[in-house]
Amino acid sequence: MSAPRLEIDLDRIEHNTRTLVDRLAARGISVTGVTKAALGSAAVANAMLRGGVSALGDSRIENIEAMRGAQIATPMTLIRSPMLSQVERVVHSVELSFNTEWSVLARLSRAAGRTGQSHSVLLMVELGDLREGIMPGELADMVHSVLGLPNIILLGIGANLACHSGVVPDHNNMAELSALAESIEQTFDVRLEMVSGGNSANLDWALSTEDTGRINNLRLGEAILLGCDPLHRRPLTGLHTDAITLVAEVIESKTKPARPWGAIAQTAFGQAPESAGCGENARVILALGQQDVDPAGLVPPAGIRILGASGDHLISCRESGESSVGDEVRFGLNYSALVRSMTSPFVRKVTNSPSNEYPGLAVL
Ligand SMILES: *Cc1c(COP(=O)(O)O)cnc(C)c1O
Repeated sequence: MSAPRLEIDLDRIEHNTRTLVDRLAARGISVTGVTKAALGSAAVANAMLRGGVSALGDSRIENIEAMRGAQIATPMTLIRSPMLSQVERVVHSVELSFNTEWSVLARLSRAAGRTGQSHSVLLMVELGDLREGIMPGELADMVHSVLGLPNIILLGIGANLACHSGVVPDHNNMAELSALAESIEQTFDVRLEMVSGGNSANLDWALSTEDTGRINNLRLGEAILLGCDPLHRRPLTGLHTDAITLVAEVIESKTKPARPWGAIAQTAFGQAPESAGCGENARVILALGQQDVDPAGLVPPAGIRILGASGDHLISCRESGESSVGDEVRFGLNYSALVRSMTSPFVRKVTNSPSNEYPGLAVL
């Protein structure tokens, strides 16, 4: 089989999903399965659905359209604020979108009116990570305006932490979100059906607190796909961390001098030249590079140490065992490596589904 390729074990993704869905259900929290790191793959989406997610979420309308094209009828959430240039497509394919801007909400309302359907929105609140969100002090005004919009249903509020500034979801910021929900309900005499607390980084908080307040939804991608907690990148108990692996092929294996020779200037990607070296061991080159993956996010198998990567060559050191030309090497991935390899047209994606194909993969 050709390399490089991502091997996606759908049973493990299903298991990871079910484990998290069950643990969170015990705390009154539903799970929206986030498919963006899998390029909106229908195979991955269906594995999440078998594992019990109540809805699917993606940040890109293209991925949602691909899943709709693959006959997935589950409620879909656009978890990034819609582009003004895409509001028609959003209203057409998505039941619920996350929003922070009045101009977008007004246009969603008009677009929904033209289709004769209503569109649900969730207002994102800024709780300190300084990515998306309405400032808490401005939320009530926005709610007031949104409640006056025809064809728009205010489903709830939500927040996203940890992604940009690494702010940890904790008792304080989650209690603030709960209090905002209560205050909106009292002020406007409405019921907020969904209070979506955050992403995989919220698991630490959600699974360790007795009182999750009004939070009744989380949006999970990384924890399901990679089995780890993004705050500390530690494996989550009972989850597979190898549901997705990257296989690459050896194209050169030679013993070479420990140090480069000649005058030294910049490298292809401007990184510092290799510092640790390889000593007396074989230097093994794999047909894998910056165009395929974030090399810094690869986890090599025992006996192999990564020395560096250019666009198309991954240079490694064989510290024990042997590698010959043509051998395959299997790597674990962090989120950055996963996203880069998923979006690289050079990396084949295969699943262990019966057809061994990858439905829903956008053509790149
Ligand atoms: C990406 C994203 C998620 C999912 O994040 P993970 O860390 O992969 O669980 C949830 N919410 C929003 C708004 C996102 O952009």
